Amino acid sequence: MKFGGTSVGSAQRMKNMVSLVAAAGNATVVLSAMSGTTNSLISLSQCIVDGESGNAAKQIDDLEKKYRDTASELISDTALLKEAHSNLDSIFSELRQYPAMEFSEKQEKEVVAFGERLSTMLVSLYMKEKGMNSVLLDATEFMRTNSDGEPDQEYIKENIEIAMKRHPGVDVFLTQGFICRNHKGEIDNLQRGGSDYTASLIGAAINADEIQIWTDIDGMHNNDPRFVEGTTPVSELHFEEAAELAYFGAKILHPTCVQPAKHANIPVRLLNTMQPEAPGTVIFNAKPTHTIKAVAAKDNITAIKIKSSHMLLAYGFLRKVFEIFEKYQTPIDMITTSEVGVSVTIDNERNLKPILGELEEFGNVTVDHDMVIVCVVGDLEWKNRGFEAEVVNALKDIPVRMISYGGSNYNISLLIRKEDKIPALQLLSEHLF
Ligand code: ADP
Ligand code: ASP
Ligand code: MG
Repeated sequence: MKFGGTSVGSAQRMKNMVSLVAAAGNATVVLSAMSGTTNSLISLSQCIVDGESGNAAKQIDDLEKKYRDTASELISDTALLKEAHSNLDSIFSELRQYPAMEFSEKQEKEVVAFGERLSTMLVSLYMKEKGMNSVLLDATEFMRTNSDGEPDQEYIKENIEIAMKRHPGVDVFLTQGFICRNHKGEIDNLQRGGSDYTASLIGAAINADEIQIWTDIDGMHNNDPRFVEGTTPVSELHFEEAAELAYFGAKILHPTCVQPAKHANIPVRLLNTMQPEAPGTVIFNAKPTHTIKAVAAKDNITAIKIKSSHMLLAYGFLRKVFEIFEKYQTPIDMITTSEVGVSVTIDNERNLKPILGELEEFGNVTVDHDMVIVCVVGDLEWKNRGFEAEVVNALKDIPVRMISYGGSNYNISLLIRKEDKIPALQLLSEHLF
C-alpha cells in the first residue's frame, strides 16, 4: 500500500491512512513525504547553493514547526509524543548542519530525503499508539540503483527479504518511498513522484498479491483532470496502456512504475484515500476492449527534423542518427520518417547543442521548442477500424507537427504546440468520450 503526499498531508490524513492499513491487516506500506515538503527541501537546497543562509535557516525553522505541530496533533500518548519530539530534535539538528557544509548534488539528495524520513517516523509512532504490530524499515538498506541509475532489482529483493526476516510475525512493514542508495552507496532518489516506483519495486520483490497506490483521486481518469472538466475514472487498464499513460504525462503514476508490476504480473490498483469505497482503477493483463480509454499529455518536448538528400534508399542512415542521441544519452520519445527526412522528439535539451552540431553533418536540421505530446491510449490494435480517424478528426482545427501510430497496439501520439495543449485535450474528451 503506497500513500502519496496528500494522503499523509496532515495529522488527520495520517490517521485516516493508518485506519486503512489497519483494516487491511497485513501490508507493506510505502509513504511519500507530506505534500509540499519535497518542494520545500528543494527550495532549501537552492538557498544553500545560493549562499542565502538566513533564508535557509528560516525555511528549516518553518519546516520544523510544521512537524512539531503535526506530531502534537497526531500522537496523544505522552511517552510516544516525547519520542516523536526527541526524534525531531535529532533530525532537525542534522538538517541544520547542511547550510554550513560544502554543498553539491550529493548533499542535495541527502536533504531531499528528509521528507520521507520525517513522514514515516511520525506514522510509525502513531501505528504504535494504535497498538499495531508494525515495524519501520529503512528504505536505504534495500532500495538501490545500479551504475546506470536503474533500480537493482536483485539487490532489492535479496535485501528486503533480509530486513523483513529480522522481524518475524510482524503484520505491517512501513518504509520510505522515493529514497534509495546509488551504486556507490550514497543517498539518492527515484526522481520526483518516485514513491510509486518504490511501491511497485517492493511489490515485485516480495511477490505481493496486489500493489495499491492510494492517492487523492479515484483512479486513472480518461483525461487530465487538471485541464479538462468532467473526466471520469477508467475501471480497467492493461499494463501497457497504463505504462503509456504514465510515461506520457498522467501524473497519477510515476513514468516507469508500471514496469516492475507488469514484469511480475502483479495487479496495480489506484485508489482514493478520501473515498476508499470507490472502485478506482485496476491495472493488469486486461482483455482487449476495442475502446479508446484515456488521453494524457507530456510537456517540454523538443522536435528535431533532419532533411537529407542522401537518405533516399540509403541503409544505415537511421542508425547514424540514433547513434548521436545515444552518444549524448538523450532518449527519443517519438519518431516519424519520410523518404527525405526524419523527425524525432526529445524531452531533455541538456545536450541539444552538440547533438545538433553532429546532426548537421547529415543535412538540414530544424528545431521546434515548447511542444507537447498528446497521447491517446486504448485497445488500438490496427485491425480495429476508425480510431485513428476519430483522433485526427477531433484535432482538425489544431496544427499537428507529428503523428505516431502503429508502434504498439495501445497508442496514437500527436505532437502539437504548447499553447494548443488544453484545447486539444478538451476536444479529444468531447469527441472520444
Ligand atoms: P500523490 O501525491 O498521491 O502521488 P500525485 O499528485 O502525484 O499524487 O498524482 C495524483 C494527481 O494526478 C491527481 O490529483 C491529478 O491531478 C493528477 N492527474 C493527472 N492526470 C491524471 C489522470 N489521467 N487521472 C487521474 N489523475 C491525474
Ligand atoms: N516526495 C517525492 C516527491 O514529491 C516522491 C513522491 O511523493 O512520490 O516527488
Ligand atoms: Mg505522485
